[in-house]
Amino acid sequence: MDDKLHVISPFDNGLESGSNHNDKRLLNLKQFQRQEKLLKKAKWLKKSVSIREQDDSILTNRLAEDGFENLNQMVNAYLSGEFPKHQGVGNPQVRKLIDRLRARDIVDPITKDISVDFYHRLTVDRFYEWLTPRYKKQRSATTLKNYYVRWMDIFWKDPELIKGLSEDVRAYICDAMRRFAECWNQTYSDPEVKVLVNEWIERYEFNRGIAYKKRTRAVDKKFIEYKLRLLFDTYKGNMGILVRFAAFSGLRGTEIDYVREHDICSNLGACTCNKIHVENKDNGLSIIHINRDFGNKHCWFTIVPTKLWEQFRVLPKEMTDYSTRKILHQSFMNLTNNQVSFMTLRKYHYNVNRQSEMREPGAEVLAGRANSTSAIHYSMHMIDMMTKATIDGWKSFGIDILEEANQ
Ligand SMILES: [Zn+2]
Repeated sequence: MDDKLHVISPFDNGLESGSNHNDKRLLNLKQFQRQEKLLKKAKWLKKSVSIREQDDSILTNRLAEDGFENLNQMVNAYLSGEFPKHQGVGNPQVRKLIDRLRARDIVDPITKDISVDFYHRLTVDRFYEWLTPRYKKQRSATTLKNYYVRWMDIFWKDPELIKGLSEDVRAYICDAMRRFAECWNQTYSDPEVKVLVNEWIERYEFNRGIAYKKRTRAVDKKFIEYKLRLLFDTYKGNMGILVRFAAFSGLRGTEIDYVREHDICSNLGACTCNKIHVENKDNGLSIIHINRDFGNKHCWFTIVPTKLWEQFRVLPKEMTDYSTRKILHQSFMNLTNNQVSFMTLRKYHYNVNRQSEMREPGAEVLAGRANSTSAIHYSMHMIDMMTKATIDGWKSFGIDILEEANQ
């Protein structure tokens, strides 16, 4: 007998042991029974309910699930405020979940009970172990695992909260939950959870707007080309230089400030000073070696047309600083019906690179998300491929990066 139970209820007088959870409910019942005794002298009213015959067994099951032997007990608990607060079973969302679990016959694989916490049976460690070999990079598995841990309870029990999140976050949550369902199936040979996850995603529209993003690359390319064309045609002169530099360098705002004003070192090769190093290539592009941490974000190097770089470097500070970028941002949003922000340029840059010959690893290096070993490797041994991929990559999106440098 668990000592804690004696602390929970002063009414306890030797209950059978069982799971803590059930005992609590039994304790509540004992309490109600005592209250009933006290109320014996009171005047009683009879109230009746009408239900369909076929629902009778459902009602009995539900009452039992919530620890009641009959309707009287349930109504008394309801009146005293004890029910439906405990266990959250009164929450309509949890009710809905129980309904669907019952309909799909999804049970806790150990106890074989219908349980709104069924998914906890598959441990996070097991899920992570299962995910890891399925991704090239450990980080991808870790990201999905973290999304799963953060959102699993909300997904099942409070899904309305997910609706309001950004498309990117919702896409990760959907991915994590689908992966979880696959892992569940392989662990317990129960494909029903997969069906239920998909049902949940549909029902609560978690993938609203995401399906569009996943359409073919051709559509993506046309979409990005169209948006960039609009921006490039709108901004000419000094503003045009800044907009093009932001798009082709993919730098963050603070990094744009940094490379505009920071000293350039004239040494090349193995120089390790903290100035910026610029390497001009014959094909009209320059590699700007930045090698700097911005807070916890890295920036290794970027590749831009030499001519654009030279024009950018002589722009006055007030043409590129934060307040100007803020104005540009608002202007972009007005122009594109809120589809393109200043930060979107960085996302486009990543997209173009990832679909070019440099692929995801190269795009990660340019986005400052790769580690220093990869960054050094790419900047030393892969740089010719990277510059060629930059020109070809933008071309495949309908943009001639060298021509744009001439505006
Ligand atoms: Zn130097």
